[in-house]
Amino acid sequence: MSTNTTSTYSDFHLQFIAGEWQTGKDDSTNTNTNPYNGDTLVEIQQATKDQLNEAYDAATQAQEAWAKQTPAERSAVLYKVVNILDQRQEEIVDWLIKESGSTRIKAMVEFGATRAITLEAATFPNRVHGEIRPSNTPGKENFIYREPIGVVAVISPWNFPLHLTQRSIAPALALGNAVVLKPASDTPVTGGLLLAKVFEEAGLPKGLLNVVVGSGSEIGDAIVEHKAPSLVSFTGSTSVGKHIGELANGGEYIKQVALELGGNSPFVVLKDADIEQAVKAAAFGKFLHQGQICIAINRVIVEDEIYDDFVERFLAHVKTLNVGDPNKQDTAVGPIINEKQVKSLKEKIAKAQEEGAKMILSGEIQGQVVPPHIFTEVTREMDLSRNEVFGPLVGIIRAKDEDDALSIANDSMYGLSSAVFTADMQKGLRFARGIRAGMTHINDISVNDESNTPFGGEKNSGIGRFNGEWVLEEFTRTHWISMQNEPREYPF
Ligand code: NAD
Repeated sequence: MSTNTTSTYSDFHLQFIAGEWQTGKDDSTNTNTNPYNGDTLVEIQQATKDQLNEAYDAATQAQEAWAKQTPAERSAVLYKVVNILDQRQEEIVDWLIKESGSTRIKAMVEFGATRAITLEAATFPNRVHGEIRPSNTPGKENFIYREPIGVVAVISPWNFPLHLTQRSIAPALALGNAVVLKPASDTPVTGGLLLAKVFEEAGLPKGLLNVVVGSGSEIGDAIVEHKAPSLVSFTGSTSVGKHIGELANGGEYIKQVALELGGNSPFVVLKDADIEQAVKAAAFGKFLHQGQICIAINRVIVEDEIYDDFVERFLAHVKTLNVGDPNKQDTAVGPIINEKQVKSLKEKIAKAQEEGAKMILSGEIQGQVVPPHIFTEVTREMDLSRNEVFGPLVGIIRAKDEDDALSIANDSMYGLSSAVFTADMQKGLRFARGIRAGMTHINDISVNDESNTPFGGEKNSGIGRFNGEWVLEEFTRTHWISMQNEPREYPF
């Protein structure tokens, strides 16, 4: 798909506000580094609250005219974005590797998902539709319109920065909204500025997409509390998501929120499963992007009868994975995003041992590269089971039988994704329907995302759904308009 483009994008030290690339005016600087080798990629002077206000003013002004453009005109911009993504595939993949520590394999997965949601969003302008509903009042007609929300605030995380930003901004823009985006501090380029370049090149009118790179203390709360956005689309941790939800509904202005939060995906292997296939799936679903995925396998739950066999084969397979330089074609496990996350993983390794889990695979942590760690005899009470790991550590839990496996799988405050392996599809379906989660995959990994199927979670994993019709509803507002065609009789 990729071809040589005229020139690679530059000037990532600037903010994108009101359609202009401008210097941040805050005293602080974001030093964007490569998590594998520590190289400085770009230094960004951060934005002030005034610049955030400027972004919201521009978005508010630009949105009205954008909503009035024909669906075909809005679609055309999105299709152009898809073309530019294709032309610049190598450049984008390169940024994902050097900025977010993506292995080449993960960068390609992320590129594909980003392209797919953009293509899906390009169809939204023509798919949005209203309804006519009957009325019990004589002479009345009921019309239900779907209108753009207006201005949408988008806050995105660092793990799949390009995709998780694009899955909010592409539908939002396609449906006639304007966006103010705050990317994660670890990934300002792939999580925002790079996409701003692509939309600018595609001819998106000025002011519709604003990317504001700033510190949490300066603009973190302000982006949510500002009067302009009617919807806050947040993807990130459950703790920050709760805070965002409180801000959006406890301040002066009430806003809708779409919260895509943390996960603790169970991966269940029942005794009749194809063990070899389950082993390969468990390795990929756990270690892709070093386990830093909200839908990554967090708990492997295996039925007693096949537990030892599974563990033996899983250990052997994981030992073959290449660890290190994410730029190498065959690297499976690259670096962790930042020092803070590495520290939290070291603490988790120590805690797992303290709690009595048996560490059957470990390795030396070099820089920010943490090799796979496997723990057995893990129980549902242990930290490894209760909390999101977000790293290449995995605990394997022994289940007495199918019922016990289901009970363990559901024993979590999260409910994002999940998976079950079995040779019996009816059993698999029954088991899947028993899991309290937004997504369950039979004989596959928990890491699945398709642009036309609903992505989202239950419980502490969030509110709302992405993709397809579900995001189409999320990024529009419903307006009931009735028409009284003949004089109505009132009681007084
Ligand atoms: P995070 O919650 O620390 O940060 C997410 C974003 O929120 C970042 O842009 C951050 O700068 C911003 N932020 C932090 N404090 C803020 C505040 N007070 N006001 C406004 N914005 C604020 O999460 P992270 O470390 O970037 O990402 C990892 C977490 O995200 C994991 O828990 C993971 O499960 C979750 N996640 C969920 C999904 C999903 O679709 N459900 C997808 C990816 C990641």
